[in-house]
Amino acid sequence: GPSLVWLRDDLRLGDNPALTAAVERGRPITLLYLLDEVSPGIRPLGGASRWWLHQSLVSLAADAAALGGRLVLRRGAAEAMIGELVEELGAGAVFWNRRYGAAERELDTRIKTSLTDAGVVAHSFAGSLLFEPWTIRTGGGTPYTVFTPFWRACTSGPPPRAPYPAPAELSDADPDLDSDDLPSWELEPSRPDWAGGLREAWTPGESAAQELLADFLDESLPTYGTERDLPAQQVTSRLSPYLRWGQISPHQIWHTTDVARRGLTGAAATSATRFLTEVGWREFAHHVLFHAPDLATVNLRPGFDAFPWPPLDVRALAAWQQGRTGIRLVDAGMRELWRTGTMHNRVRMVTASFLIKNLLIDWRLGEQWFWDTLVDADQASNPFNWQWVAGSGADAAPYFRVFNPELQATKFDPHNEYVRQYVPEWGTDAYPAPIVDLGETRRAALAAYEQVKSAR
Ligand code: FAD
Repeated sequence: GPSLVWLRDDLRLGDNPALTAAVERGRPITLLYLLDEVSPGIRPLGGASRWWLHQSLVSLAADAAALGGRLVLRRGAAEAMIGELVEELGAGAVFWNRRYGAAERELDTRIKTSLTDAGVVAHSFAGSLLFEPWTIRTGGGTPYTVFTPFWRACTSGPPPRAPYPAPAELSDADPDLDSDDLPSWELEPSRPDWAGGLREAWTPGESAAQELLADFLDESLPTYGTERDLPAQQVTSRLSPYLRWGQISPHQIWHTTDVARRGLTGAAATSATRFLTEVGWREFAHHVLFHAPDLATVNLRPGFDAFPWPPLDVRALAAWQQGRTGIRLVDAGMRELWRTGTMHNRVRMVTASFLIKNLLIDWRLGEQWFWDTLVDADQASNPFNWQWVAGSGADAAPYFRVFNPELQATKFDPHNEYVRQYVPEWGTDAYPAPIVDLGETRRAALAAYEQVKSAR
């Protein structure tokens, strides 16, 4: 029977190991995207992610059609739906690339078992990470909790495999197989349509990702190392949402960057290494998620459970979300996020630190807001980085290192270019006064942290 390729966090045709295996099997192929909002433990997508997914499926369907293939859309509980589809299609094999969350892995294991029991070939592949989380272990056999030795262990072995080419053509298994109508999924906002800024900022899809990477390597890589912390410079790759949805693979990034690196010397070569190290942080976040599946809800350091969060100040939370705190860099970042679905990494650190350490609001509430508003909202990277900023996480910033957001602005946005872009009224009477005193709240945060220490 034909092959079913179940696409999930790998919405691409190039360097797709599951698809490559299906092509090698030599039978017609059905490409499937399944929207599963009902299986237990699967985190519901945030609003910006839903918008991204909608655009991505349009783009992927067009890419598949250009090769003679077809993307079939279904919605429902994965376990039942895969079984149904295999029957409808008379499929002889199902292929997919792995996911790393616990609920997803358990689901995939159950499906693999029931397919195998039914005599259907079921294979999973490594498509989304350079290093499968369970293959990287300390000398003592335990998972890594610190980034530098983790990345050293990753990069001291053989280099990641080369990317697979996209298939030259696809033969569709069954043109009559029912497919949902994408608009019926209502992934895109309608009333109110808040996605105008997202449309302006982004073109989701596989070819857009390849163009971004090529432009980044041409134009920005040499200065990435020195300018990546300056939000007004826009030298970073902006590849994170494409990596999140697998519209580009880390293998493609690794190998293209590695080739570019060979032509570089000095600071530019260091920049290339630095860029790949950032891709390594994504690997590390997944390594940590794999070993701590409750990353979005549970402090990695149990001592942090004793942190005395004061009662939630909902007005302060709303001011943070809406970029009305009276702290220029925080407000610029939060407005960039709301408008464009992304925020520069340096500013993510500053806004997160401000929420946790100046507003004394639990990091989980910040994580949830980012989850809903980021186009790159990632099950591993988002909670991992929030715990990193909070000081509750792996290889975390020590809690007592509290960013002063005004000093950060002076240092990383010295001419207020970034601030003015998103907070045009800054410096006028229309701009609000700070909602908290930075020094006072910093002292309160440090005092609260003392309780965590004494609880250990
Ligand atoms: P580049 O500088 O071009 O880096 C290349 C790639 O490396 C990125 O696309 C990303 O995949 C990876 N990367 C870089 N930094 C990190 C990091 N600190 N952790 C993990 N991967 C990294 N990144 C997400 O992809 N999804 C998230 O949900 C997310 N939430 C974050 C929340 C907070 C509080 C903070 C401080 C950071 C978060 N990040 C997240 C990490 C980082 O801010 C973004 O990956 C980065 O800003 C994306 O821009 P870029 O693609 O231009 O990055």
